[in-house]
Amino acid sequence: MLKATGIKKKYGNLEVLKGIDLEIAKGEVVSIVGASGAGKSTLLHILGSLDTPDEGTIELSGKDVFKLASTQLASFRNKEIGFVFQFHNLLPEFTALENVCIPGYIGGRNDDDVAKRAKELLQLLGLGARLDHKPSALSGGEQQRTAIARALINSPSIVFGDEPSGNLDSKNANELHNLFFKIREELGHTFVIVTHNEEFAAMADRTLEIQDGMVLTDAEK
Ligand code: ADP
Ligand code: ADP
Repeated sequence: MLKATGIKKKYGNLEVLKGIDLEIAKGEVVSIVGASGAGKSTLLHILGSLDTPDEGTIELSGKDVFKLASTQLASFRNKEIGFVFQFHNLLPEFTALENVCIPGYIGGRNDDDVAKRAKELLQLLGLGARLDHKPSALSGGEQQRTAIARALINSPSIVFGDEPSGNLDSKNANELHNLFFKIREELGHTFVIVTHNEEFAAMADRTLEIQDGMVLTDAEK
């Protein structure tokens, strides 16, 4: 479903990615691990088309992503790709429900359908009683779960996480990790998660270890 071929990226003279090839199948939960500075975030941003490589191609859902014109790419990304970051980036003046709806409205779908779907997702993530709370009234774990619901609103083919549990205590981190599997089970989503959390890396279907801009190991469990 996602295929990266020959991905290279340099910042000045620093070769951050040195030719990465990988494939991810629908429904996989993949962790990406490696030392700080190994190139994990850069890789994730390129896989998710937030950044462009110097060389190489990304094919997602049958599209050669970097061949799309920039307006097409924006709508393709809105529909096909979800992102969750270490810090939730929820809009503070909007409620949890509104935050989840916004990418749906941007995607141009019917407002009632978006709101209905957003409620279902928040319920699935254990936030049915928190729909009208603003982010400041939610706990850290609840904020991250809201960010996950937001990433799922357009039913993307793939969801990327850049240390999504990095700012949570271990209890909330474990809850969040379990939710990825619950969502995969109920909705069939694919997750690719950069993590320093060893427990999560051990739970994932597959772990890609990045070292020095290359895939050092690609271990299926
Ligand atoms: P990781 O996520 O594994 O910690 P990153 O992909 O964030 O690694 O960074 C890999 C290397 O690239 C690091 O040395 C980092 O400082 C450098 N780097 C990342 N982004 C930029 C950038 N925008 N400009 C210059 N150097 C960068
Ligand atoms: P992470 O913790 O996810 O690896 P970093 O803290 O390395 O992220 O980087 C945060 C942001 O700063 C990223 O957008 C990255 O591209 C940018 N960045 C990282 N290193 C550098 C650098 N040496 N020069 C410029 N930008 C950088």
